[in-house]
Amino acid sequence: MPDSHLERVLVTVTGPDTSGITAALTGVLAEKGARLLDIEQVVVQGQLTLCLLVGLGSARAASEPVLKDLLFTAKRMGLDLDFAVVPGERDERAGQRYAVTAIGDGLDANGVHVIADVLARYHANIEQIRQLSGERLGSVEILLGLPAEVGAASALRRDLIRATADLDIDVAVQRERLTRRAKRLVIMDMDSTLIRIEVIDELARMHGVVDRVSEITRRAMAGELDFEESLRERVALLRGLKVEKVHALAADLPVTEGAREMLTVLRKLGFKTGVISGGFTFAAYALKERLGLDYAYANELVEDAGVLTGEVKQPVVSPQRKADLLDAIAQREGIALEQTIAIGDGANDLAMLERAGLGIAFHAKPRLREQADTALRAGGLDRILYLLGLHAHDIADLLAD
Ligand SMILES: [Mg+2]
Repeated sequence: MPDSHLERVLVTVTGPDTSGITAALTGVLAEKGARLLDIEQVVVQGQLTLCLLVGLGSARAASEPVLKDLLFTAKRMGLDLDFAVVPGERDERAGQRYAVTAIGDGLDANGVHVIADVLARYHANIEQIRQLSGERLGSVEILLGLPAEVGAASALRRDLIRATADLDIDVAVQRERLTRRAKRLVIMDMDSTLIRIEVIDELARMHGVVDRVSEITRRAMAGELDFEESLRERVALLRGLKVEKVHALAADLPVTEGAREMLTVLRKLGFKTGVISGGFTFAAYALKERLGLDYAYANELVEDAGVLTGEVKQPVVSPQRKADLLDAIAQREGIALEQTIAIGDGANDLAMLERAGLGIAFHAKPRLREQADTALRAGGLDRILYLLGLHAHDIADLLAD
């Protein structure tokens, strides 16, 4: 019998999960010649919900024995079973699928409610909700369909971020397609992203010029100087600093929380990794060595007779060059830009974040946060793994062996 002549019955089975439930119920369907049109199952804390969409002959005589047998089998296994006839045509709303990932300590009943409330306003059709973190509800992934309206996804993202701004929850909205999970290259900024400090501030402190360097940084932030000018002016103030002091700093850089975990997991998944920094090579190369990165690019300070000359070698790693280097690495590795991730904290990372398939503003200044695809305001770099849809137990497995 063609599917269109069948009555579609949604059978929902709930109760304590034991082995053999799906086998027994599908066995009934097979024996009675009923058609299984769709199946989905979740188990939460040992409680099973199993949905079977079954096609039955529309005559009562055909459907009654099947449903009776299903009911009997379920009862025997200590389960509740409900059924309802559903409309013949599936509600295939035109639109695109998205993954909404919510991460943070504020993810409690209220946090989930706030997010679900925004989704409802956008008429999002939620297909699946799953917890990604371990014991605690620290991360949830919601797969949904959005009606095909221009700009709906970016408006949804903006409203989700606004609604959760005071809740200690970060929310990311990504198109749900294979490339979300099939990322292959991660590029990080260095200062205040891969490491917790700004190297130039530390060098300035050692050399007793921290106030003058901060003043130039302030003017750069205010847009009075461009990146290259401000870099040159600050480096000039470091003239005469002993190179051995610079190397001592490099040997002891404080790596950001979660960085090692993130890199270990990504490497095991076959990712290429790199740091592209507007800071300095002595620090970037030390990190490349220490963390086993594949690539490191930064600015090279000129030294002579054991001290810095106050000059920087050309070409300078400017914001534009950061983006171009990401591109060059991807090309060299044969990786599509869509499969790249860039992580940064400052305005000089924006071009690189925009170039990447997924740009993540990490503990970033507000301006970058607003313009990036995704922003993480709290937690370690390992939270990025949740954005790729990895579950805490996947992460634990990869870290274990
Ligand atoms: Mg930075």
